Amino acid sequence: RDDEDLENVKEALQGLELDPNTRPSKFSDLPLSQRTAFGLQQSHFKDLTDIQSRSIPAALKGKDILGAAKTGSGKTLAFLVPVLELLFREQWSKQDGLGALIISPTRELAAQIFEVLRKIGRNHLPSAGLIEGGMNFKEEAERIPFMNIIIGTPGRLLQHMDRTPGFSVGNLQVLVLDEADRILDMGFQKEVDALVDHLPTARQTMLFSATQTKKVSDLARLSLKEPEYIAVHQEA
Ligand code: ADP
Ligand code: MG
Repeated sequence: RDDEDLENVKEALQGLELDPNTRPSKFSDLPLSQRTAFGLQQSHFKDLTDIQSRSIPAALKGKDILGAAKTGSGKTLAFLVPVLELLFREQWSKQDGLGALIISPTRELAAQIFEVLRKIGRNHLPSAGLIEGGMNFKEEAERIPFMNIIIGTPGRLLQHMDRTPGFSVGNLQVLVLDEADRILDMGFQKEVDALVDHLPTARQTMLFSATQTKKVSDLARLSLKEPEYIAVHQEA
């Protein structure tokens, strides 16, 4: 089943044009795997929000994304759908190690992303874990080698990167910096720089924020390659 679906998805993706005049309006307009399409349906997501309609096609094509859209505009699915699809296209399995790293400013926001991922990713095989300092460090360290997708906060992630041998990022395919403006406002610049420094450069990166600030564009310059700039109506 996956083999056939994989071929279909890859073919549809090749034919997908990034035409600003014909943007997709529904998830079903996108070339998604059956696993993702079904997970979205089960979670009752049908229509795309603006930021999703504009960023998901480019992200599926493998482009780096610099996305700005206000809180509540649906940025979480804008990166989670492409992350799931990338790992699906690579037929990522447990033995492949860490494929995606999602950095979030707070434990609460990281947990929210994790919940959305659990819902829409329920039919996928890769495993996901939350690294946010709520748990005993050693227990967390023992779970890390089994995680294909990690969602975490900058300080705790950096601690593990420095001290947890099982935290190997050599195979990483995609990095997401979510709520980048808040990450920087909270003073995590150094942690994020150090984390990004450890990651393979041949990766896809998506950076999302609610506001466009000088600090965000500085971080974007360091972490993204020829990104698609996507800004959705900055306030009415
Ligand atoms: P942001 O990160 O931009 O602040 P979220 O990703 O947290 O926004 O989404 C805000 C709310 O909108 C959530 O309750 C989410 O479930 C809902 N939402 C996101 N995308 C869609 C969609 N395509 N259709 C319906 N509701 C959506
Ligand atoms: Mg968000």
